[in-house]
Amino acid sequence: MTRLILVLGDQLTETLSALRAADPAQDLVIMAEVAEEGTYVPHHPQKIALILSAMRKFARRLGDLGFDVAYSRLDDAETGPSIGAELLRRAGESGASEILVTQPGDWRLIASLEALPLPVRFLPDDRFICPADAFARWAEGRKQLRMEWFYRDMRRKTGLLMEGDQPAGGRWNFDTENRKPAAPDLLRPRPLRFEPDGEVRAVLDLVEARFPRHFGRLRPFQWPTDRKEALQALEHFLRESLPRFGDEQDAMLADDPFLSHALLSSSMNLGLLGPMEVCQRAEAEWRAGRAPLNAVEGFIRQILGWREYVRGIWALSGPDYMTSNGLGHRAPLPALYWGAPTRMACLAAAVGQTRDLAYAHHIQRLMVTGNFALLAGVDPAEVHEWYLSVYIDALEWVEAPNTIGMSQFADHGLMGSKPYVSSGAYIDRMSDYCRGCAYSVKTRTGPDACPFNLLYWHFLARHRERFERNPRMVQMYRTWDRMEPGHRDTVLADAERFLARLHAGEPV
Ligand SMILES: Cc1cc2nc3c(=O)[nH]c(=O)nc-3n(C[C@H](O)[C@H](O)[C@H](O)COP(=O)(O)OP(=O)(O)OC[C@H]3O[C@@H](n4cnc5c(N)ncnc54)[C@H](O)[C@@H]3O)c2cc1C
Ligand code: SF4
Repeated sequence: MTRLILVLGDQLTETLSALRAADPAQDLVIMAEVAEEGTYVPHHPQKIALILSAMRKFARRLGDLGFDVAYSRLDDAETGPSIGAELLRRAGESGASEILVTQPGDWRLIASLEALPLPVRFLPDDRFICPADAFARWAEGRKQLRMEWFYRDMRRKTGLLMEGDQPAGGRWNFDTENRKPAAPDLLRPRPLRFEPDGEVRAVLDLVEARFPRHFGRLRPFQWPTDRKEALQALEHFLRESLPRFGDEQDAMLADDPFLSHALLSSSMNLGLLGPMEVCQRAEAEWRAGRAPLNAVEGFIRQILGWREYVRGIWALSGPDYMTSNGLGHRAPLPALYWGAPTRMACLAAAVGQTRDLAYAHHIQRLMVTGNFALLAGVDPAEVHEWYLSVYIDALEWVEAPNTIGMSQFADHGLMGSKPYVSSGAYIDRMSDYCRGCAYSVKTRTGPDACPFNLLYWHFLARHRERFERNPRMVQMYRTWDRMEPGHRDTVLADAERFLARLHAGEPV
């Protein structure tokens, strides 16, 4: 009896559990480009183009491997509007009575598959280093979940960067040597970018025609779209940028959007690269003496630690996580996130490069756009929708814990023990944005004061009850309490005025 093997756009891995379970002689692989997946949030055009290009190439590869693939293109007249509609159409045509799918990383999609009038068998997504059930066992009974403890367990379990039962170099963490500001450097290696081939160019034309109003520039499009290119990008990163990764991990420069970052998240998230192979290759660079331990540990921590951890949190928390709003924030997302002009140089730079490249690195996402939304009291559901839309690597399982949890502190402290908020001083220390800004980062009140300076104290004051006993925040409240009462009143009044203008849609 024929079964349908559904392969989603982020499941482009030859060893996917659903493909391993398939019988190429009998089963039919279903891949579908459908309008609903392109529009449930307004995805960046480069993100849509990447997923469609990579799907088309992967479908051809599956054909070469002997699978019978029914591929529905977005521009085929008979293609249905949703994945569910396509599955029902293909089941009708083939007489299939069961669907096999590797667990999707999106609760919305899981719910829509569960609602189909056909049996759907979900297989575990075992492309992660830590299976979801192992994460649930690790989390069970713990009073607090913290990434650091999970990460150390993962190091022990995998043996990555271990010397016997001890961490390589005698420490788990080299952050004190990392996280420096960076200076512009014309000789800094650039990430490997890929010119679109004919197949990708056809997809770019299709995306241009079908999604003309989505925020973001489609061209130049330079992302890896198959495993071969993703492996080339990985090797280039390891050779050229990994040695500086740790030092420049948290730095921001107006004219250098990539610094020494890997740009590998989209390839890993679509399944073109496996997280373990990436970590093992990075470790090999250290063992061969080609990259320092602080850089390699910092990089492996992001994947073996953070990436696996957020996946575990997403799987554990279920669909309600997406509507968490622990701080009761209700303000709308300011228009500047969708490209409206702003005098704030840091936000203009982070949003501008997001529009042009579908990329911003972690500290830009966390300490510029995320920090500002949190300080301004924006509804985390709107912030979540923005991040899910605009980044090349945005998939719910990884985006939601990072946005709702880490960046907006909306998940009641599940992802972090304190909110990531800062005044302008942090951005000034880690970037060159403030030099070119209309606001003054050193000014604390008045119309020229950096808005982060005003909003930081406003945030702490309005959430005092929630945070003043948090041991990691006591010092911040002490500093606030030591200020002159008159000065505190001025800061709060200026912050109120700024927020009123921001939320009224005035340019800020
Ligand atoms: C608000 C917010 C939203 C985010 N949304 C996403 C998202 O939708 N998709 C996504 O893949 N990452 C997301 N991240 C995490 C991180 O910003 C990106 O993984 C990273 O910027 C990707 O660029 P890179 O490949 O150059 O990463 P590098 O800085 O070079 O890091 C190497 C790899 O580590 C992994 N990584 C690093 N940090 C994280 C993290 N916090 N969580 C998970 N993996 C991590 C990524 O796979 C990345 O490719 C988000 C972070 C924040 C603060
Ligand atoms: S002064 Fe403030 S608003 Fe301007 S770039 Fe610096 S941190 Fe951003």
